[in-house]
Amino acid sequence: MAASLELSTKARMPLFGLGTWQAPPGKVEDAVKYAIDLGYRHLDCASLYGNEEEIGNAIQQKLKEGAVKREDLFIVSKLWCNDHERPLVKKACQRSLAHLKLDYLDLYLMHFPMGFKAGEDLTPKDENGMVIPSNTDILDTWEAMEELVDCGLTKAIGISNFNRDQIERLLRKPNLKHKPVNNQIECHPYLTQEKLIPYCQSQGITVTAYRPFGAHTLRPGDPILLEDPKIKEIAARHKKSPAQVLIRFHIQRNVAVIPKSEKPHRLEENFKVFDFELTKEEMETLLSLNKNWRDCLMPMCVNHKDYPFKADY
Ligand code: NAP
Repeated sequence: MAASLELSTKARMPLFGLGTWQAPPGKVEDAVKYAIDLGYRHLDCASLYGNEEEIGNAIQQKLKEGAVKREDLFIVSKLWCNDHERPLVKKACQRSLAHLKLDYLDLYLMHFPMGFKAGEDLTPKDENGMVIPSNTDILDTWEAMEELVDCGLTKAIGISNFNRDQIERLLRKPNLKHKPVNNQIECHPYLTQEKLIPYCQSQGITVTAYRPFGAHTLRPGDPILLEDPKIKEIAARHKKSPAQVLIRFHIQRNVAVIPKSEKPHRLEENFKVFDFELTKEEMETLLSLNKNWRDCLMPMCVNHKDYPFKADY
């Protein structure tokens, strides 16, 4: 198995995983089967992505074939923001498990530290297009998530898109029963997270980098990581692609990384990152590209009391 990180629960999480956001139903099932055959063992899922049923079909088939054992897979799912009310948390986790056709998750994350109004609408908005919050508190939502560990629905729980103050508040919670084992955050050479990563690691919280290739839906003026001349130069030196350099960057920081692709040749390319090493100077060059530029800004949430991205880190 590829390299892994030890969680504070002592379980191991593979450093490299498959992202599944915008992997459409109809394509994602084949992509996941192909990825498992290639050796992918960590799958990053979420109820928000609307494709957990197809991912579940793929996992089920690979388990039945004997291509992989359940205990060798590391399956992550996430609690979406409209399910933050305590009675909804368990139902949301059970729904993801039913779709994934699993009886436990390896890790269940609070997708964002922001509760939205409960209901059918995943992102309920007011007349100004801004999200309608719930009056939930992340500490209460966390308590409901702790119960999921206690009843065996997930081996561990974690957070995503939490800033330092929000993490501290959680860690200082009286009677904290289960610590967050992981914070999943946007990270790449234009958003290097040089304060948040060491802080998380100092607290025993592993970090997973999402959106490793940077801009997803390009807005005018967005910098394009995969075309950055310095990244292309490093890639050429190693006879690797810019994408492979961008993945390797995290692995050498002990940060898990979950690139998404639904294309077989890219699933292969993205996995071939354990046969080369970036030099100290190359890592410094990549870190020097930092612009504190964030792609996943969630602009409709800027007025939310718990909007996480106004803080320095
Ligand atoms: P990403 O993995 O950085 O980029 C995915 C895009 O890059 C897709 O358009 C993909 O296209 C393309 N791509 C994949 N491999 C490539 C390669 N080798 N060369 C060039 N292009 C390539 O972005 P992401 O999907 O936003 O982030 C990764 C995962 O992180 C998500 O899928 C999701 O699981 C997770 N995530 C979590 C959060 C959160 O709030 N916690 C937010 C965002 C994402 P093809 O599919 O066509 O190959």
